[in-house]
Amino acid sequence: MIIGTPKEVFAGEARVAMTPASALDLQKLGYECMIETGAGAGAGYSDADYKAAGVSVKKTAAALWKDADIIAKVRQPEAEELKYLKAGKTLISFFNPAVNDAGMTAAKTKGANVIAMEMVPRISRAQKMDALSSMANIAGYRAVIEAGNNFGRFFTGQITAAGKVPPAKVLVVGAGVAGLAAIGTSTSLGAITYAFDVRPEVAEQVESMGAEFVYLDFEEDQQDGAATGGYAAVSSPEFREAQLAKFRELAPEVDIVITTALIPNREAPELWTEDMVKAMKPGSVIVDLAAEKGGNCKLTVMDEKIVTENGVTIIGYTDFPSRMATQASNLYATNIRHMMTDLTPEKDGQINHNMEDDVIRGATVTHEGEITFPPPPPKVA
Ligand code: NAD
Repeated sequence: MIIGTPKEVFAGEARVAMTPASALDLQKLGYECMIETGAGAGAGYSDADYKAAGVSVKKTAAALWKDADIIAKVRQPEAEELKYLKAGKTLISFFNPAVNDAGMTAAKTKGANVIAMEMVPRISRAQKMDALSSMANIAGYRAVIEAGNNFGRFFTGQITAAGKVPPAKVLVVGAGVAGLAAIGTSTSLGAITYAFDVRPEVAEQVESMGAEFVYLDFEEDQQDGAATGGYAAVSSPEFREAQLAKFRELAPEVDIVITTALIPNREAPELWTEDMVKAMKPGSVIVDLAAEKGGNCKLTVMDEKIVTENGVTIIGYTDFPSRMATQASNLYATNIRHMMTDLTPEKDGQINHNMEDDVIRGATVTHEGEITFPPPPPKVA
């Protein structure tokens, strides 16, 4: 079978789902590999790089979608791509099945199989295919780099002949995958780093990375239940008040705030209010990784960088992985390659869409003309 990767059509998207290295691995599974011309350009890979790795290059997206049996891409298909879906073809990409009615309907009526990368179950066995985590890791790292780029001082403290420099103080709100990556980056740059999460079980991880966990004066059992299945639940009003009071105390102290707090299937909780922004020192920076879900900071503007009247920079970019397109493509292409390994147990270049397999079943959102989303809960933890 042929596995093909088109050039991403979403404006500004620089990632690519197949790299020359992943193509070599896919060929070891028995597949022929194909790309659309220029597909890797944004990530630093030329057509010649792919050809050297045994990949054939098609001149148009239409030709690629026609010839490939399996299409691997990054973003959910745009309308102009949905028309290429066909029975017997398998698409592997992010797909947003819960809110992508046009995509789900097209895939069902055309009888195409769709594997949605965000639906890979978050169980140990599937970590190697967990593209949400690989992309969140990049976003967390890049958020700190972006903050540093907009902050006029060093992260680390220094004593130099030209004067004494205090270390920057960084607060990371939300210590999931992106938050932990931000914490690791911040501490390694030498900033004094604080972190908060509604899930108290992450305190140990935060502290092991050299950051200080921010505890609230709050009886844990008064809370509505901070966590379900490793994810956050909505906080009780009392807990939220205690959290906001702690943040108000920290606002004049911290130089950089990275917010990553998300609750599955909901708008992001608003945690950094206007008065907190006003209380921050001029030159401070907020990077809001929840911008796409409405933002954790009241003043965040999605996809923009703004500077408030009191001189606080607020960054609401939603494309951090694409801003590190080579790294993101390498990791994403590896996630895809691992998915293909599980889909090709015989290494014979033939896809075996085993719906009895928890991971494949969980990620499959349409199969042979049926909608198979949402999936049943995984049997293995
Ligand atoms: P996420 O992106 O949904 O949320 C980010 C963080 O925001 C979470 O840590 C959450 O607790 C926190 N948050 C929510 N509301 C908050 C609030 N009001 N204040 C402060 N923080 C708040 O989460 P994620 O990064 O995708 O990870 C969530 C969980 O899934 C973690 O426990 C993680 O370890 C786990 N996980 C497991 C696997 C695996 O086993 N394969 C893979 C990835 C993640």
